[in-house]
Amino acid sequence: MTTTTIKLHPRLDNGITDYPEVPDFSGGTLKCLCETNKVEVHVDSQTAHNHACGCSKCWKPDGATFSIVAVVSREKVQVINNADKLKIVDEAAAIQRHFCTECNAHLFGRIENKDHAFYGLDFVHTELSDDKGWSAPQFAAFVSSIIETGTPPSKMDDIRKELNHIGLPTYDVLSPELMDLLAAKTAELNGISQK
Ligand SMILES: [Zn+2]
Ligand SMILES: [Zn+2]
Repeated sequence: MTTTTIKLHPRLDNGITDYPEVPDFSGGTLKCLCETNKVEVHVDSQTAHNHACGCSKCWKPDGATFSIVAVVSREKVQVINNADKLKIVDEAAAIQRHFCTECNAHLFGRIENKDHAFYGLDFVHTELSDDKGWSAPQFAAFVSSIIETGTPPSKMDDIRKELNHIGLPTYDVLSPELMDLLAAKTAELNGISQK
């Protein structure tokens, strides 16, 4: 039973049972939301670190409070159709999100800064794929950030409970594993050796 009227995301409303993760799944094709001339991006691999994200930058479907976003090696990501419809949301952002200029769906986000801890990984929304077997969401990140886009603070308790209820631990930044990677990169860039 949900205790909140907030829509987390259409693919989370039934819990993460919507994700029949297949062990040897080898990828699929992401398609934008246009009726015709869809932008198509082939992802030649299973994704990792799939999660719900509450930040204001990730693409999410209409009415959703969270996006669902995963990472995959950038060399496994290839635009195969209608590449001319893609543009970058913000060239100055760490993650350059390539979106369809007609339907606004984000097809992939790419990091061009080689000093970034996540350089080499692209960010993708596997809900844009009809292929079944993608990795299931594992946690919810940037949960407090949904307040910045209009969620009342008074609803946060219920929202965190709901996310936990469907099996997603909640974090107000990224998961500990990913935060550790970011911090280790900072140490490396500052010439700090790990004891
Ligand atoms: Zn489109
Ligand atoms: Zn996000």
